[in-house]
Amino acid sequence: MKIELACHSGFCMGVRDAILRIVRELNHSDDEILVYGPLIHNPQTTQILETRGLRTVHDLDGIAGKTIAIRTHGITADKLREIKGRAARYYNLTCPKVSRVQGIIRKYSGMGYYTIIVGDHDHAEVLGLKSYAQAGVSVISDVQEIPLIPPAANHLVVSQTTQDADRFDEIVTGIQARFPGLTVFNTICESTHNRQSDVTEGVKGGADALVVVGGRKSANTQRLAQMGREYGVKTFHIETEEELLHADFRNVRKVLVTAGASTPGWIINNVMERLYDINFRNSFFLVNIPIRLLQFMLRTNIFSAVTAYFITAFVQSYAGLVPDRGLCLVSMLYIFSMYTVNNFLEMQWLLVRNPVKYALLKRSRYLLLPMAALSLAVSGLVLSSHPWWIGAVYGVSALLGCVYSTGLIKKAVQLVPVRLARLVYSEKNIISSVGWTIAVALLPLLGRGAQAPAMIALNAFVFSMILLRYLLLDIIASQGDLILGRQTLPVTIGPRQTQRLGAIIVVATSLLYAALVLARGAPIYLYFLVNLVYLGILFVRFPSKSYFFALKYEFIVDFNFVVFVALCLALGIY
Ligand code: SF4
Repeated sequence: MKIELACHSGFCMGVRDAILRIVRELNHSDDEILVYGPLIHNPQTTQILETRGLRTVHDLDGIAGKTIAIRTHGITADKLREIKGRAARYYNLTCPKVSRVQGIIRKYSGMGYYTIIVGDHDHAEVLGLKSYAQAGVSVISDVQEIPLIPPAANHLVVSQTTQDADRFDEIVTGIQARFPGLTVFNTICESTHNRQSDVTEGVKGGADALVVVGGRKSANTQRLAQMGREYGVKTFHIETEEELLHADFRNVRKVLVTAGASTPGWIINNVMERLYDINFRNSFFLVNIPIRLLQFMLRTNIFSAVTAYFITAFVQSYAGLVPDRGLCLVSMLYIFSMYTVNNFLEMQWLLVRNPVKYALLKRSRYLLLPMAALSLAVSGLVLSSHPWWIGAVYGVSALLGCVYSTGLIKKAVQLVPVRLARLVYSEKNIISSVGWTIAVALLPLLGRGAQAPAMIALNAFVFSMILLRYLLLDIIASQGDLILGRQTLPVTIGPRQTQRLGAIIVVATSLLYAALVLARGAPIYLYFLVNLVYLGILFVRFPSKSYFFALKYEFIVDFNFVVFVALCLALGIY
């Protein structure tokens, strides 16, 4: 089965800006924020925001002295006046495209035009638009209703922003037949139009199934599903991936996935993961088994742990030391155990961000957790034949790694009066990269006569390679992390700035590393620049695409580790 994601899926500009604004306000204030009616038509997103301090209200009775947000659909002119008069603060999150339609109606009805809105009678946006029509208004949802429009000197026609383009044209043609000389504004939002075109193109391109992801009450999402049914393709309108069943896709050749304007990226990712999972299960075992194995190695961080072994061998080789395979083994076991412990401590994020990975870890917990404990024990045994302080540093690092994500430490850090310390703690991936570097690059060299330039080159190289990997993985998860309140660099400074920062780190580290390698007179180690270049290409190339099938993306990012290990083996470093 071929799985294709429509070009225009997920948050539109209006919803994205509204969510960003609300989340920023929630992050900087302990007060609850009221929103009049659901902020967007996506229950999963609003439920999460409600746990973070957003409260949906359905009347304005209790708003005096409170902060209230006006949702993307807009509200009636009366309600807006009331909010301005009674609330302590308000955020008008009405989408600019909806505000534009309100402005058109206000202007033309001021000139005496009778307003006709092509839209759904009870839709929140339409109720708001009606309130701006001071010279009479009719809402037309079907050509049958055209005879109900009263005669007037001038008629203005606008559309609900999420209307179906064909239906709008059909209704306008009908109204023009009755009232020639109409003033018509096609105010259907481009975002809606693009999504509908994607479905049409997808069906023309051979899709025999359509998965529409989004709230059941979302008008634009309902319309996408309706289009699928009208085209006669197997259509599934779902809110989460749990609604998809293996049996439903047995005879499907090509499935198109699309999503409404208020569907967040992480839900789309989860649906893509689920579909690929269904596809693998329904596929021949010779395809199914290697993919499952790859998934297990990636998601349980066995890939990363094996790479840690080779990084330790590489740094010792570069520094002119005979590789101590015991330390290589300790690096591998340390990385495996730290990742495993932290994965299980962060299960609550995973459940929302990546249910497929969550399920895999949950299934494998009786294997992975004892393996992590065994790894630490074996590391201790190996280190007993090394200077005591190496074991002590590993021990302290392991302890910090295990308690880092616990609630106790989080609460303790919030009490620290220095803001910078709290900020550094919250950027977990920087701390993790430092931890990686100390464990796999710094400790194996300390006290063994490695030269300072070699130490600088190697630690900069390893730190950058690990940090860049984390940043790449966090960029695609940033939308979900933002809503969930998870602090990462792409959330703090934005995905684009993170991309720029990543590119700068690649260039700066490559220059430093290359200069130090050449100064040392060991050009063979220049081959490893390929790892930085590869990550640099990913920063420029991949995050510009909005959504990915997470496993594929994780593999593309971690393919860098495969390249690194292959280089080590080719150069005899192990
Ligand atoms: S679908 Fe269009 S009009 Fe509606 S919120 Fe999004 S950008 Fe605005």
